[in-house]
Amino acid sequence: MIIKPKVRGFICTTAHPEGCKALVRSQIEYVKAQPHSEKGPKKVLVIGASMGYGLASRISAAYSYGAATIGVIFDKPASGARTASSGWYNTAAFEEIASEDGLYAKTVNGDAYSKEIKDQVIELIKKDLGKVDCVIYSLAAPRRTTADGTMYTSVLKTVGESYTNKTINLKDETVSDITVEPATEDEINATVKVMGGEDWKDWIKALDEAGVLEENAVTAAYSYIGPDITHPMYADGSIGKAKDHLFATAKEMTAEGRVKAYISVNKALVTQSSAAIPIVPLYISILYMVMKAKGVHEGCIEQMCRLFNEKLYASVPVTDDEGRIRMDDLEMGEEIQSEVHKLWTEITTENLSDHADLAGYNEDFYKLFGFGAEGVDYEADTDPAVMIPSIG
Ligand code: NAD
Repeated sequence: MIIKPKVRGFICTTAHPEGCKALVRSQIEYVKAQPHSEKGPKKVLVIGASMGYGLASRISAAYSYGAATIGVIFDKPASGARTASSGWYNTAAFEEIASEDGLYAKTVNGDAYSKEIKDQVIELIKKDLGKVDCVIYSLAAPRRTTADGTMYTSVLKTVGESYTNKTINLKDETVSDITVEPATEDEINATVKVMGGEDWKDWIKALDEAGVLEENAVTAAYSYIGPDITHPMYADGSIGKAKDHLFATAKEMTAEGRVKAYISVNKALVTQSSAAIPIVPLYISILYMVMKAKGVHEGCIEQMCRLFNEKLYASVPVTDDEGRIRMDDLEMGEEIQSEVHKLWTEITTENLSDHADLAGYNEDFYKLFGFGAEGVDYEADTDPAVMIPSIG
């Protein structure tokens, strides 16, 4: 069939297998061309490995150090005329290319929060790798069902007071004010359950108790801070409370001594998750314009390749005073932020295209689903049924 993008709100309900493959390949080529740190992981588990920062982490570990990777994903295969999810196609492409290059890569598909998936991963590690020396936790999920059957849903709201600021409507490309309402206590607690550190710690505990965690294993999860304009919505909002919990969990796990746990504070980028946050997409499109003009723009792969090679596996991991790895160093630079702030103050629907890189935002959004890759014939008849080699 001919596969075209079908956008509904913040997501695209179709994905293009050839486009996803071309984009995975270009991330691989990027990593291959970079210098690599001498030290590096050899056996890596990536939880949330099919898109965004998790996929880029998997590619960086595999192609910087020849690491064997096991990925945990939550994706759908194609069914009839419905395409697979882009995470499915990304994973199929990654496994296929990795295997051509002689690299071990297998995947477990299912709910990472569940005990069943943790058990499946542990069995796979025992069978194929023995142990893992690095665990990347890169889940961005709307909900979590705990062992007792309770379902928690995360919210993107403020804490305390409502907050009004500019936002963009990507459909008609207009800028208007939006008011984000405060979360209730229950909503904040639920967001912490979903996006905080509890499940990360459960994973590390399960791996340790099963004897599949190497001595001196390293684990990292990802966070975001950003500038003042996004704070009420993000760092000080319900998601920020979950990220505080994630950071506290990292400190707790390191103090307990079994692993070295890190939080990497990453750059704001277009991913399936960030597209859904009010105010943030407008900030991202202004940020893209400023960082591209100054020649310091990075995508997920540039960020994660730099994380592994220059920070996490430097001879001594590079952190700020509080012990966090700062991949947002370029984004938060004073020159960048003062320019972003100026454009943010001035931006309106009328001057949108002079003040924000909307084309860049849209390009990245479509690429999340495999559309807009160079060298792909989008008019060609394409079979949506693609297998992930280790899953079938
Ligand atoms: P993403 O949506 O691109 O990727 C999330 C991944 O998690 C996907 O592979 C998805 O399939 C997987 N996933 C979701 N629920 C799952 C489940 N129940 N079981 C197994 N897998 C599941 O998101 P992202 O933006 O790459 O976010 C990853 C992490 O990076 C998050 O912690 C996020 O807060 C953080 N982060 C993102 C940004 C940003 O701007 N995008 C910035 C800084 C930090």
